[in-house]
Order: sequence, then structure tokens, then C-alpha cells
Amino acid sequence: MRIVVLSGGIGGARFLRGLLAAVPTAEITVIGNTGDDITLHGLRICPDLDTVMYTLGGGIHEEQGWGRSGETYAVAEELAGYGAQPQWFGLGDRDLATHILRSQLLAAGTPLSAVTDRLCARWRPGVRLLPMTDDPVETRITIKDGDQLRSVHFQEYWVRLHAKPEPVAVELAGIATAKPAPGVLTAIAEADLVLLAPSNPVVSVGPILAVPGIRAALVDSAAPVVGLSPIVGGAVVRGMADKLLPLIGVPTSASGVALGYGPELLDGWLVDTVDAAEVDQVAVSGIECRAVPLLMRDLPATVAMAQAAVDLAGQVAVA
Ligand code: GDP
Ligand code: CA
Repeated sequence: MRIVVLSGGIGGARFLRGLLAAVPTAEITVIGNTGDDITLHGLRICPDLDTVMYTLGGGIHEEQGWGRSGETYAVAEELAGYGAQPQWFGLGDRDLATHILRSQLLAAGTPLSAVTDRLCARWRPGVRLLPMTDDPVETRITIKDGDQLRSVHFQEYWVRLHAKPEPVAVELAGIATAKPAPGVLTAIAEADLVLLAPSNPVVSVGPILAVPGIRAALVDSAAPVVGLSPIVGGAVVRGMADKLLPLIGVPTSASGVALGYGPELLDGWLVDTVDAAEVDQVAVSGIECRAVPLLMRDLPATVAMAQAAVDLAGQVAVA
């Protein structure tokens, strides 16, 4: 079975761990969000790709959910000693090795997809990890700063400003001319099923779908497309999607997110059991919907979620 998964960082990576255990013989291709990517201290950082790679490769800081296990911060302290900016983004010593090698390869002209392959050769995540695009795309948030509007990189909004300033717009700089990375459209065309991880719909799955050609390929694909709600009980499980969903006109609810993706894209949708009352609202739009537990408390719970998604895909495929 060939499965394509659209994934952001922490939510996507944890889900993928469950999926790998649920269907160990499947060939899984992950299309990762690169809208979060940022250049700091001259180094190119790809937070979502790295979170997937470290989580599945056994290098993740488990409690934190991002960054390396056994991390130290000597380089960051030395940079701070020079007053080097910015200081709001935590870059550990072990993690820096990834960014140094990536930046070195990119500077030599290697596309991001090939760089990601090279990094994954060490981590062996058990999936094929593809960036959504090799072209630079930057998710930017326009915020209210007093009575001024200011555009900041998504990382600055989230990591430095903790999503406190009021967001007024989200923009994907560079998206119009971005091309799907090599392998992305073929993986979609050859997939037996496509899953949307319970990742942030605005700044994780949204940018992937916005790369010209990707959403159309999913709509055209014969494979069923099934998503899992990142919204449980009308709230985010973690993160700031509730602050950003209004910007794209989507209510913070499990059904709202499904209808936002829309029935032309989605064949199936899973909501948490606490949201069972929303199943009909999704189903009337033509999206098959089931309510199952969707909290990734531990690996068995996550495996069950992944299995439910694969099962639902099987049902919509024969329907
Ligand atoms: P990020 O790039 O690190 O922010 O990670 P993702 O975009 O992949 O995932 C963030 C989303 O995962 C948030 O919107 C959360 O609500 C969602 N999420 C986190 N943990 C869980 C969980 O246990 N269950 C569900 N259903 N969603 C979750
Ligand atoms: Ca992210």
C-alpha cells in the first residue's frame, strides 16, 4: 500500500509514528511543510521537516516535541556573548549540525529535496520525506502592533511573540511561483490513499495545498483523501491554529476545518468522539465522517487513530 501524508511538525510527526506502527508494510511518502523555514545566523532551518525526521529517526527531544534529545546550547551562549541576533529562536548544538550541513549543501546548489534525502540517510525515518517545494516559501503573519500593522515571519509570531499580538492576515510569500518538489506529484498520482495529518490547517497543511498543482493533483487523484481533525472539542490540542483559522474564514471546530478543506478535496474526515455531534454536518457536505478518539496520548492511541484513518479510506474507496 502506498500512502501519502501531508504533514506539519509536531502534530504530523506524532501521527506518523502511529501510522508507521499501524501499517508497517506500507510505503509512506510524507510531503512536509516548508512555509516555516527561516534563515538565522546564516543557516537555513526547516523546523517541520526536521521535527518529522528527528521524531521518526529517534533523535527528537520527546517532552519538548521539537529539537534534538540530549541537547546542549554552548553555541547559542557564545552567539549571545557577541550580542548576535536574534536570540529568541532556540538552536541547540546538535541541531546546529543539521542546519550547517543543510546550508553548506544548499549553497553548493543542491535542491532542498536532495538535501533532505542526504539528512534522512542518517536518520532513516522509515518514510520518504519530501519538502512540498524546493523553492523558498515564507509564511508571514500581519499583526497589529499598537495602531500599526506589521508583517512578521511565522516563526517570529509564534516563537518570539507567542501568538499574542492580534493577527490580521496570513500570507505565503513566494507561493505563486513555487513548484512542487520532485517526486511530490508522482507520489500523489501513484498513492493508494492520502492522509491529512492532524496538523495546523492554516500554517502546516494550508501552505502544502497552496503550492500550485498540489491541491489539484489531490482533487484529481483516484486515491481517497482522508483527514484527521487537529481541533478537538472546539479547541486546539496545542499551538495557535485557533488564532489563525478566523483569518481564512474557518471556525475553530472539527466540522469547520473539514468544510474549510471542502468536499472536492476530502473524501473522509475523522473527528474526536467529543465532537460526534458534528459528524452529520460534515456528512451532508458529501464527506464521509466518523467519530473516534483523536488524542495522541501514547503510541497505542495514535496507532488506533492511524488505523481508523486507513479503515475509513478503505470504506470511501469502495463506496
Ligand atoms: P507544528 O508544525 O509543530 O505546529 O505541528 P503540526 O502543524 O503538525 O501540528 C499542530 C496541530 O496538531 C495543532 O493544531 C494541534 O491542535 C494538533 N494536535 C496536537 N496534538 C494532537 C492530538 O493529540 N490530537 C489531535 N487530533 N490533534 C493534535
Ligand atoms: Ca510548523
